[in-house]
Parts: sequence; C-alpha cells; structure tokens
Amino acid sequence: MHLINNKKLLSFMVSESDNSIAVNNPATGECIGYAPITSKDEILDAIERSKLAQQSWAEQPAKARSAVLQQWYQLLLDNQDDLARLMTLEQGKPLAEAKGEVMYGASFIQWFAEEAKRTYGETIPAPSGDKRLLTIRQPVGVTAAITPWNFPIAMITRKAAPALAAGCSMLIKPAEDTPLSAFAMAELAYEAGVPKDLLIIVLGKQAAEVGDIFTTHPTIRKLSFTGSTRVGRLLMQQSAGDVKRTSMELGGNAPFIVFDDADIDSAVAGAMVSKFRNAGQTCVCANRFYVHSKVYDAFVSKFDTAVRALKVGNGMQEGVNIGPVINQAAKNNIQSLVDKAIEQGAEPTSSIEELAGLYLQPVILKNVKHNMDIVSQEIFGPVAPVICFDTDEELIEMANDTIYGLASYFYSQNVHRVWKVAEALQYGMVGINDGIISTEVAPFGGVKQSGIGREGAKQGIDEYMDIKYLCFGGN
Ligand code: ADP
Repeated sequence: MHLINNKKLLSFMVSESDNSIAVNNPATGECIGYAPITSKDEILDAIERSKLAQQSWAEQPAKARSAVLQQWYQLLLDNQDDLARLMTLEQGKPLAEAKGEVMYGASFIQWFAEEAKRTYGETIPAPSGDKRLLTIRQPVGVTAAITPWNFPIAMITRKAAPALAAGCSMLIKPAEDTPLSAFAMAELAYEAGVPKDLLIIVLGKQAAEVGDIFTTHPTIRKLSFTGSTRVGRLLMQQSAGDVKRTSMELGGNAPFIVFDDADIDSAVAGAMVSKFRNAGQTCVCANRFYVHSKVYDAFVSKFDTAVRALKVGNGMQEGVNIGPVINQAAKNNIQSLVDKAIEQGAEPTSSIEELAGLYLQPVILKNVKHNMDIVSQEIFGPVAPVICFDTDEELIEMANDTIYGLASYFYSQNVHRVWKVAEALQYGMVGINDGIISTEVAPFGGVKQSGIGREGAKQGIDEYMDIKYLCFGGN
C-alpha cells in the first residue's frame, strides 16, 4: 500500500482476524489489505444512528447540503491518483480507466450537489375555487445501497450523492471483492463535512445477511441495488414484506448492431470501447454483435485488427488495455461460454491462448448463431460474438429477444432507419453511432428485467424523494 500517498484514505484498514475480509489483487493474487466486517448488532446500531443523522441533515437548507457535496467532489479530484491506484489494485482495471472512473464517479457528486438546490414542487390548478393544491418533495429518509465490484466508486456515488442531496442518509454495502475504494470514499466524505452517521459503509460476514437487514428493517425506507438480475429479484421479493421502495440496476445483454450503411471505422472504434472497457465487465458492454451480411467481412476484419493490438496485463503497467477479470469463478464462466459456442460451431478469428492467473485473451467469435448460449447470457468478459443478419425486421426481433433491456447500440447513417430502430429497440438506453453513452447528465437505467429506476440526470434524485400533495381547503 506504499502506492497510496494519502494514508488517511486507508485509515479504516484493520489487520487480519475473524472480523476482517482479505482483499486480493486480481492481477497478482496478493492480499493488499483487510477491510472491517460489521456484525449484525453493529449494523442495527448503525441504522439507528443513521436515522438521527438523517433528521438533522434533512433540516439543513439544500444550499448547505450542496456545499458539503461540492467539497466531497473536490476531495475526489484532489485524491484522483491515489483513489485510482487503490481501485486498480483491488479491481484490476487499467490505471487510466481507474482514473477515468474517479472523474466519472466524482461527476455524480458535482451534478447532485447542483440538483440538491432544484428539488422543486408544483402548484396545481384546483378543480374548485375554494381549494389551493400544491406538491412538495421530501427526502425518503434512511436509505440503503448494495453495490457491485465492477465500478467500485461510480456505483456508489450514483446512489450516495443523490441520496445525500435529497436529505437522506445511506448505508452502503460494497462488493466483498472491492470494499477498499468504498471505505476510502467515505473517509473523503467525512473530511468534506458529511456526518459520520449519515453515510455508513458496512460489510457483513455474508452479503445475504446484510441484504436481509436492509430489506426487512422498518427504518430503512428504500434500497438501491446494482448487480445481477438474480440477486435483484431476490432483494425485490424480500423488500415486498414492508413495501420498501427499490431501485434496481440489473444485468444487461446489449446488442451492438452494424447496418450496411454504417461508417465501419467508426463502428469498430465504438465496438472496441463498448466491448473491451473494464475487460468486458460492465452491464452496458456490447454482449452480442449483429452485422449486416454486406459489411460482415469488412467489419470483422477491421475489428480483428483492433483486437489483436490490445495489450493484456497488470493494470498498473503503462499501455495495458485489458486487466485481469475479477475472480476465478468469472474466468471459468467466460471460458465455458466460449468453449460451448465453439462446440456449437462458432469460430475464433485467432487461436485462443491460455493465459495464467485471471487473465483472458480477448476473442472475437465469427459464425455465431442467435440461438447460442453465448448470445442469450451475459458474458461479462473480453469476448465478442458476431452474428450475421440480412433484414431490419429480423434484426429487431433478434435484438429484442432477451429478458434484458439495459443498453443497446447501433451504427447507421440513414436518418429514417435511425429513428425507426431507435424507437423499436426495447432498451432503456440506445447509443446511436456511439459506443460510450454513460454520463452523469443523462438518465441511466433499464427496462424489462434490467431494472427499475434511473440514476444520474435530473431524474436520479427522484429516487430518493417522496412527493407530498398538500390540499388547502376553505379559501
Ligand atoms: P455480480 O455477479 O456482479 O457479482 P451480484 O448480484 O452477485 O453480482 O453482486 C452484486 C452485489 O450484491 C454485491 O455487493 C454482492 O455482495 C451482493 N449480493 C450478492 N448476493 C446477495 C444477497 N443474497 N443479498 C444481498 N446482497 C447480495
């Protein structure tokens, strides 16, 4: 941990014991530190403390909450390099991407610091002359979040920043693979002036134990989750008991479509960033490519050239584009999807080299058919299956033939087709001639089994506010 200059970021760290979790560097397998485990009683106590903290936080003017968030944002920028190194050490992504994520994560804090001041209500024209109607918006109260390992900072700020801006408190359970970034972020929040009981990071012995408390404790009025559809479903079921509000950012199965009128070079550039960022471990990653038969060979050949140039290695090394995947289970799953696809007739564009540790060689698979498992399942790795299509009708049917509906992408220069396809795709987000769509100013979220709710944008704060309708009679 000599790579982290600001030792305050690591002040949460504990030594090895039954009450700590060892965090390993996926690039080397080495243990890089221990994060504290919170016992059940401590979590229950934290919920009570967070309730009190929330009440006084909500009483503060929005401008005061905004100022604290602005300061938190600034501290992320000031500590960008340290946070990025910590993230690469525990998560594996290339350092340049980790630095990008710190900025991306920080952008949500800045955005919601601004939005805190704009949680307007409405006046409503009354149906009768003696009444005056209006709405005010109030914080939901004590909230909780469960976050994944693929974006250890941004998945937290997308939830914590709007929650705090709205006047809520939040307890966060980060992923067990990447808790260090979460604790470090919280240290910066406290330094910025966020009360310690307002934003609390908890790690249980088991994720399910924390999930049970978050979904059944009556004080917690809302749960925001990012992770798999399987766990999301479970948490929604558990939350039904006391009709808790939930936001769900779940799995995706993004189609990446290249029409015959596309600019192929630009489609290849988009495919590279969409597919291979974070070694293919993002929920908006292109999962399956549909390329028109007229441009199939041209696209695959240019895509292949670009993929061969990718450098796989430890994310701390200069020039590395693809780091390790997060753990052995992930690697096994990706490899078995590839093996099965090859058995079913898919062809890799180059021979696949077995890499040691958690590394995987990026692969393009040709001659993939829409009904293969690799097309219907989320790959979450550096593998690009490419399917050939002929008509727009057939394409739309295949693109929508999934339980998921998070991100989708297509490349076309024909304005009529652009509108038609954009409207026909059953997805929460559509990248049109663009492979990177995430930004704090636009609403991120899915339809179908990819989730409920939106993060970022002006809508993001709504997830943490209740609308109260006031009816004034006798006027
Ligand atoms: P992934 O496949 O990306 O790891 P998961 O849905 O398994 O997705 O994990 C996302 C987050 O959900 C992690 O923080 C993980 O610890 C947590 N999690 C996993 N299982 C449960 C559960 N039963 N209850 C609550 N949280 C869980």
